[in-house]
Amino acid sequence: RAKQEGGHRFVLFDADQERTIREQREALARGLEALRNGEFALYYQPKVDMRAGRVIGAEALIRWLHPELGVLSPAHFLPLFEGSEHAVELGEWVIATALSQLDVWRQADLALELSINISASHFQQDDFATRLAGQLSAHPGVTPSQLQIEVLETTALADLIGACRTMEQCRQFGVSFALDDFGTGYSSLTYLKRLPADVLKIDQSFVRDILRDPEDLAIVAGVIGLAQTFGRTAIAEGVETAEHGCRLLELGCELAQGYGIARPMPAAELPVWTAAWQPPQAWALAPAQHYA
Ligand code: C2E
Ligand code: MG
Ligand code: MG
Ligand code: MG
Repeated sequence: RAKQEGGHRFVLFDADQERTIREQREALARGLEALRNGEFALYYQPKVDMRAGRVIGAEALIRWLHPELGVLSPAHFLPLFEGSEHAVELGEWVIATALSQLDVWRQADLALELSINISASHFQQDDFATRLAGQLSAHPGVTPSQLQIEVLETTALADLIGACRTMEQCRQFGVSFALDDFGTGYSSLTYLKRLPADVLKIDQSFVRDILRDPEDLAIVAGVIGLAQTFGRTAIAEGVETAEHGCRLLELGCELAQGYGIARPMPAAELPVWTAAWQPPQAWALAPAQHYA
């Protein structure tokens, strides 16, 4: 059709597409070089128990400490990796870095649970569990139950049988799983019943608006109820204010993460932040949910 509209357009479009592909390949090559040069780092965002006022752990979030552009968030470079054969290399770097960090914190007497994000193409490798076990055995000081793997709800649903198998294999040696961005993937109850995921991580797009959008509030309440029914743990992400926290506590969700608690921070800052953190008073006073 483009050809009928004029040969020029067709040719132009083709050249454009070629250039885009070349640019993406070059960008990936730069990203890969940066990974191998040690320009990537994990930042850590605290996860807290709002009612107990306790820091339970952190989520590791990747950053590119770019020598010219500063701290780049994953949206700028992760998509390049995820579609490529280097997704596994990046993911294994994340696992190795997270385990080393747990070792460092343990030596400083900080026993935290650490969540890491694993991309679909990495998680779907047949030998994912075996390789994870190998990496854990290189860190004998780390208890596998300190490690939690977040996969997108949509990733787990894309290959339910494979996801169940990998999760079961990893849970056998103590690693737990969270379904990230939960609520965005249309999980049916039947799927959830089969998936051995320990945690449902309520997507921040729903959490953000619970104070003014009754439908989002209903979705969040529904996920919390689902977690309770199926014996899973719910955690809310994107908790931006103390008031969001109060509302979540009223709904029966005690665990949270968000800018209202802390932004992701470099590893060295986490022990200091943890020691200094004081929860808002309102959280201890929020009425508790009681279930029959
Ligand atoms: P995610 O796993 O759902 O992580 C939550 C994202 O929301 C993070 O963005 C975090 O910085 C941000 N966030 C946390 N609290 C708040 C809040 O209160 N308000 C708002 N507006 N945002 C908040 P980030 O670090 O840019 O990461 C984006 C996504 O990139 C992550 O979403 C995750 O899917 C992916 N990602 C991050 N690190 C890794 C990694 O090491 N490996 C893989 N495969 N994916 C990663
Ligand atoms: Mg996550
Ligand atoms: Mg998420
Ligand atoms: Mg997300």
